Amino acid sequence: MPSTAERQLARLRARFESHARELGRIGFLLKGSVVQSYKRCSSAGCGCQTDPDKLHGPYWQWTGKVDGKMTTRALSEEQVSRYREWMENSKRFEEIVDELYVFSVEANEILRTAERRPPEPKKHAPRRRTRSRS
Ligand SMILES: [Zn+2]
Repeated sequence: MPSTAERQLARLRARFESHARELGRIGFLLKGSVVQSYKRCSSAGCGCQTDPDKLHGPYWQWTGKVDGKMTTRALSEEQVSRYREWMENSKRFEEIVDELYVFSVEANEILRTAERRPPEPKKHAPRRRTRSRS
């Protein structure tokens, strides 16, 4: 392999490895979304029953998958910040994974240039097509 290719490859490998190490430091991950919602209560005569402006809330809730099932959970203020943090971690995690693929595509191109090509498909005499008749 030409030495420039080897240098490029070594540089890619180093970047790959430092990014991969960063993955381990990110922390816990969470997917889903955090939203605010307003609710109607069950007490008769409460303003929320008739006036949308008098709905109770806002309440925070998270929606995402738990054991593969879409789930909605009520969140306290403290939980909101932790959920958001883990969701940020998850986004960063995925960005880094995407970068790892970019480095890998580049490495693959460099290697392919240096590697032996696969054999060309052998050429046969053109085969007569059999037509299916209806
Ligand atoms: Zn109410």
